[in-house]
Amino acid sequence: MNLHEYQGKEILNSFGVRIQRGIVAHNATEAVAAAKELTAETGTQWHVIKAQVHAGGRGKGGGVKLAKNLQEVQDIAGEIIGMDLVTPQTSAEGKRVHQVLVTEDVYYPGESEPDEFYISVLLNRATGRNMIMYSTEGGMDIETVAEETPHLIFTEEIDPSVGLLPFQARRVAFNLGLSGMAFKEMTKFISALYSAYEGCDASLFEINPVLKTSDNKIMAVDAKVSLDENALYRHKDYAEMRDIREENPVEVEAKEVGLNYVDLDGNVGCMVNGAGLAMATMDLIKQAGGEPANFLDVGGTADAKRVEEAFRLILKDDGVKAILINIFGGIVRCDRVAQGVVDAYKNMGDAIKVPIIVRLQGTNADIAKELIDSSGLDVQSATLFQEAADKVQEVLA
Ligand code: GDP
Ligand code: MN
Repeated sequence: MNLHEYQGKEILNSFGVRIQRGIVAHNATEAVAAAKELTAETGTQWHVIKAQVHAGGRGKGGGVKLAKNLQEVQDIAGEIIGMDLVTPQTSAEGKRVHQVLVTEDVYYPGESEPDEFYISVLLNRATGRNMIMYSTEGGMDIETVAEETPHLIFTEEIDPSVGLLPFQARRVAFNLGLSGMAFKEMTKFISALYSAYEGCDASLFEINPVLKTSDNKIMAVDAKVSLDENALYRHKDYAEMRDIREENPVEVEAKEVGLNYVDLDGNVGCMVNGAGLAMATMDLIKQAGGEPANFLDVGGTADAKRVEEAFRLILKDDGVKAILINIFGGIVRCDRVAQGVVDAYKNMGDAIKVPIIVRLQGTNADIAKELIDSSGLDVQSATLFQEAADKVQEVLA
């Protein structure tokens, strides 16, 4: 589950990670009040207004702006709230901004470039260990750094049985070229950050930039935080941070009815039982020259109601030109699923305007095929996987 910057910073702060102070605002008036409060708290004269959407690169898209007085706070907040922010990480339509984070200004004006670092914590799946990935090249796209100057990216792997050791935090500070007070601050920052990562059951922290302030403090200026959804049951307060406005509406709906659905860009809707078979089905569609429109695992109980729900979800995507149903009947018998497909189809009346190819294999597959073939509906049956994929290509041609 992805969080907004302000929520990520709240969590970091609660674990003792120093953050740039900020207050969230939903309109220009709230933004001005927030700015006044921050000035009283921190003494900051300038403020930064930051769009809160689940996408990076906001600065480039005009979603992060410096305000030098309260009038500018009001104007900029008014302009950013309600806009559809387009960044390198959003679609062309952009993301609607519902709220901004008003922050203190922590950059020192002057000749020298600010000292910005990149620090992330994530799981290295290859080694099965958490790692800290970091670079002196903060404030830039880490992808660009990885491509052009890969030697400027460092990693520190953490042994899960002993956790982050003090010398590792010092090595990070050393490799970032710090000394004196900033060095000490960075080691504290790293150990607090790592405790936060473990403590909140995160799957990703990406802090870009981490700033060394003019008085040698180390602080998180941005925070991309993703939490492990499977651990949310032990963090009820974090679960409430979910902002479904940021999520794909069809995926949200699917979750509500207990279906595993992921939206994709292709034209072949897929309805499959089991995640592994769903992946294989998507591969086969691609091999046959098509593009899957979604990943959809209907799970073990593919009855008429579930099949109907699945149909409805798939059909919300205008791009879908054909639907491939691929079911392996093990515990669930194929004839039950076939009946489910026929019933759902009839229930939905003329809502289904695209051809359907059904491939049922396993227990009672022959009865199932007969049920489909004699239903009189515009549903084609197939027995072999390849045959099904080819039929999809035929109807699309
Ligand atoms: P992103 O573009 O979505 O990654 O948003 P960030 O939170 O990283 O902010 C983008 C940029 O805004 C940063 O790289 C900084 O250069 C700038 N910025 C953030 N906070 C401040 C601040 O307090 N003062 C100034 N002058 N610039 C800031
Ligand atoms: Mn950033």
